[in-house]
Amino acid sequence: MQRTWSFMKEDVRTDLSISSIHSSWMSNRRNLDASLKVAVIGAGASGLTAAHTLRKLGYKNIVVFEKENRPGGKVFSYEHKGRVHELGAVLLADRYVTVYGLADEFNIPLFTANEIGVVRDKKYYDYEHYILKHMNVVGLMGSLVNFWRMQHKFPEIRQPGFSKVHKDLHLPLTEFAKKYHIESVTQLVASFMTGCGYGYYEEIPAMYLLKLIPQTINGSLRLLLGLSGQHGNGVTNGWQSMWQTIADSLDVRYNAGVTRVSRSHREGRDVVEITVHGQPTQFDVVVLAAPLEAARDFLDLREKEKELFAKINTYHYAVTLFEGKDLPHASLVDSVRPDMIGKVVAFARHHPDLDLYTAYQLLPEGVSEEESIAKIGQAAAALGGTCGAIIHRKHWRYFPWVSQADLNAGYYGDLESLQGVHGTYYVGSLMNFETVETTAAYAKALMVKHFAPADIRAFWPFAATSRPSIHPL
Ligand SMILES: Cc1cc2nc3c(=O)[nH]c(=O)nc-3n(C[C@H](O)[C@H](O)[C@H](O)COP(=O)(O)OP(=O)(O)OC[C@H]3O[C@@H](n4cnc5c(N)ncnc54)[C@H](O)[C@@H]3O)c2cc1C
Repeated sequence: MQRTWSFMKEDVRTDLSISSIHSSWMSNRRNLDASLKVAVIGAGASGLTAAHTLRKLGYKNIVVFEKENRPGGKVFSYEHKGRVHELGAVLLADRYVTVYGLADEFNIPLFTANEIGVVRDKKYYDYEHYILKHMNVVGLMGSLVNFWRMQHKFPEIRQPGFSKVHKDLHLPLTEFAKKYHIESVTQLVASFMTGCGYGYYEEIPAMYLLKLIPQTINGSLRLLLGLSGQHGNGVTNGWQSMWQTIADSLDVRYNAGVTRVSRSHREGRDVVEITVHGQPTQFDVVVLAAPLEAARDFLDLREKEKELFAKINTYHYAVTLFEGKDLPHASLVDSVRPDMIGKVVAFARHHPDLDLYTAYQLLPEGVSEEESIAKIGQAAAALGGTCGAIIHRKHWRYFPWVSQADLNAGYYGDLESLQGVHGTYYVGSLMNFETVETTAAYAKALMVKHFAPADIRAFWPFAATSRPSIHPL
């Protein structure tokens, strides 16, 4: 049996569907004015999905400004000696309906992902043996039943955005899991969640991590039961190639960092002035698809925006491509407590025929490069492997989130109430969690909410309802 990153697999489709969006969000849409001038800032998953959705809805004047010389943002496929290594997003889970819809529409080939295991106490286990050795399987089954009940109690987890979530979902995941008796289930995927850079259960409000956990546990259980056919997926030519193809169908300006956005209201309408290379251009609307914590550098912040953006927390997530030997194919290192910050949280080898590995680390502020690279060597040695030359290292400002206290004070209600004010729309990871799917799904839903004409279904031939077309490597 081929063992894969199957805990990403889930057959149940998310209900980020057109019907759920239609009923709850259609009340305050704009009327279609195909000549509306729209500026999108950022050519990552959210910006390109927003622009693509608007174009499908019939809008013609959309310009995407991207400060880098490539699209994708945190989807970053690095080429080394003719082979692609993902130094940003890697895996597509089965509920990624928006992403699969785009992949189908643009004929992007996908492949099934590779084997993965877990490292605990310096020992490598494949996933089944990890579960059997370190988890109480009977307790896990009971916890699973509670987990399914919990999902029924909080259907908002599957809706775009966070403004209407129950207050209990603001609790840090450790407390939420205790309250709803789902600790075994959350522990099952703890090293996966930290390995993917999503911080630590002790500090992150449950609502963020619960956007992804339901997708990861199903596959874990199927692995445990010895069922076959469970695969996470990847993009054959690198995930960036998908966003490149989508960008090629749009008007994307590269090396076009926006340095100033000035918003005003003149003669009864919003005017948004976007400055790039010292040159201002006027638009009717701006979609902020650059990280909102970075938008502080160029946006003429209103008081409320200043207050809200100042509350965003992020992690420093470092990804290192290195020459290595004798390491497991892909492993999640059990570094799941906040006091373990700085250690390697995962290793991956994207090509079985190459001795090249990727190390993932959550880093404390102020750590030196020497110190953090040394930790990779130590983690590799602990597994009986080695870390040689560093090929490329990428630092990410990752996973924007706000604290339980700020959530209780109505953070997302306040942020969502600003959508459309001063001709400004906010998309990106803060709005719906840091994955390609959640950012793309939210961007699509927001554009539909505000810009779709009355009979939305007629304009929805691009809805992501199809199953992925996946080819073995
Ligand atoms: C190491 C890593 C692994 C990951 N693994 C996965 C995974 O396996 N599966 C998954 O689903 N997700 C994964 N993610 C998360 C996923 O990549 C992101 O959530 C998603 O790509 C975010 O898209 P975005 O468009 O919201 O933001 P971004 O990708 O950050 O895009 C923002 C864009 O704005 C641009 N920009 C910023 N400032 C300006 C400016 N002033 N002017 C113009 N442009 C500007 C940036 O250059 C960037 O291109 C991973 C991310 C990382 C870093």
